[in-house]
Amino acid sequence: MKDQYAFGVDIGGTNTKIGLFNVAGELLSFRIHPTPKDCGPALFIQQLSQECEHILASELKIKLGDKSILGVGAGAPMANYFTGRVDHAPNLGWKDVPLKELFATHFKTHAIIENDANLAAMGENKWGAGKHLSDFILITLGTGVGSGLILNNKLYRGANGLGGEGGHVIIPHEKRRLCSCGGMNHLESYLSAKGIKQTIKELTHEEWTIEKLGIIFREGDLRATTIINAIVDELVSGLVSMSVLIGPEAFVIGGGVSKLGEAFNQLIENKLNNQVHYSLRGKIKVLSASVSAEKGAVYGGAALIFDEVTH
Ligand SMILES: [Zn+2]
Repeated sequence: MKDQYAFGVDIGGTNTKIGLFNVAGELLSFRIHPTPKDCGPALFIQQLSQECEHILASELKIKLGDKSILGVGAGAPMANYFTGRVDHAPNLGWKDVPLKELFATHFKTHAIIENDANLAAMGENKWGAGKHLSDFILITLGTGVGSGLILNNKLYRGANGLGGEGGHVIIPHEKRRLCSCGGMNHLESYLSAKGIKQTIKELTHEEWTIEKLGIIFREGDLRATTIINAIVDELVSGLVSMSVLIGPEAFVIGGGVSKLGEAFNQLIENKLNNQVHYSLRGKIKVLSASVSAEKGAVYGGAALIFDEVTH
């Protein structure tokens, strides 16, 4: 059993991560490097495959195309599992990319592509914070706001592969904001890194990094506490609506912004359980992502391959 392997890949707007896994979910090799801005997707996937060739040579003394490699599962923003394509990913500058086909060709194996937040949810469900949960929603707070729905222990994709986009639910807010997608008052307009920085500026007239916000919040700074409360209120607005619809056991919070820490999660859990419909009060946990916290969608990519190929 142990000599079956899969690659998980996470293509992000800033960095691309690659992990080689065995079927037990052990990460044998992990690499991270900047996502190139100037080369097209075809050349980029070819370069990734060459890197994976090096990983296989050093770790397992085998080559791409070996039968023990069951596949490559790759996450990218707006990647569609059903069509195998990325129609439009502004953060990557990609349009009409046949991503699944590119991976299958260059990696010489079975390929799956999936929305990055969906894959992060898969990874948490199989090996991480959601291992003992059957129904949860993963929220990634980073450059954008993504979400992945695990319902009854399965990833929910919707009819067209485009479901579960919790970053684009509309929240009530007196300060209207345009979302990166063109919509108005979407959760992402307030909770993306850019949105949080805008809130900081509106409240302090200063430019703070999110790291600084986290540090002085933990020191008990009054202004930082005010900002964190404002951000959590905005997030909870969205989570309350998702909660009544789905009835999740938990929200699993990942992405760079989630590094605000345990006190941030605790505040979300308290406010959520105060504001949600009375029937759900006290029943919804807020947890930190584990396997996807640093390594994004790579665990999920491998999990999806093992699930599909071995079942
Ligand atoms: Zn939007």
